[in-house]
Amino acid sequence: MAERKPIIAIDGPAGAGKSTIAKSLARQLGYLFINTGAMYRAVAWKVLQQGISLADAERIGNIAEDSLIELTGTVDALRVLIDGRDITEDIVTPEISQAASQVSAISAVRRALVARQQEMGQAGGVVMEGRDIGTKVFPHAELKIYLDATSDARAARRFAEDSARGIAVASLAQMKAEIEERDQRDKTRADSPLVQAEDAVYVDSSALSIAEVVAKLMRLVSQKVAS
Ligand code: C5P
Repeated sequence: MAERKPIIAIDGPAGAGKSTIAKSLARQLGYLFINTGAMYRAVAWKVLQQGISLADAERIGNIAEDSLIELTGTVDALRVLIDGRDITEDIVTPEISQAASQVSAISAVRRALVARQQEMGQAGGVVMEGRDIGTKVFPHAELKIYLDATSDARAARRFAEDSARGIAVASLAQMKAEIEERDQRDKTRADSPLVQAEDAVYVDSSALSIAEVVAKLMRLVSQKVAS
């Protein structure tokens, strides 16, 4: 235990900037970056690909248990593979976002993915982001951040991101509605809902630039994480 390097857990709702901020921290600290949402997205992708109903919890649980999900590459060029197939570009669509949120409410899915996340991060020296990292995956993480922003700010960011990626989004209002629907599901599910861990530092990024949030978190790292 004493030998483990620090773990930084970043949780929060969709579009709060978790991935961007976590990547930047990982780069600066020389830590591994683990985007756990990509794993739920990979399961959702395979479920849709196989034409399985999102209501079929048993089959979806089996898929999560039996599939090989790999996060590879560098912080700046991350690849997501399922059963050896690279699906990085296929899992960022609004359809997969909603399906990921649905499959993530299934306890068997969470059990399978959380166990793998714990293995991936057990040596420490990681920045892991998701919804339940500080509460469930690594409740003893050295630093826990709950990164939040208003749904207007989050929708505006996602809208700009998706437009830049060439993903069709009907309107900003629709983006906001989709984000709010997903947050509502993530915050109210029975198993590991999105909540701020008691010992997490709350950071509202609505009015802050990426650089400002990163600077704030780097200060917290030097204050709280023993070097
Ligand atoms: O972070 P991202 O938006 O890619 O996550 C997609 C979905 O995966 C979330 O809406 C949430 O339902 C689920 N998720 C989760 N627990 C995590 C990470 C993601 O339930 N640790």
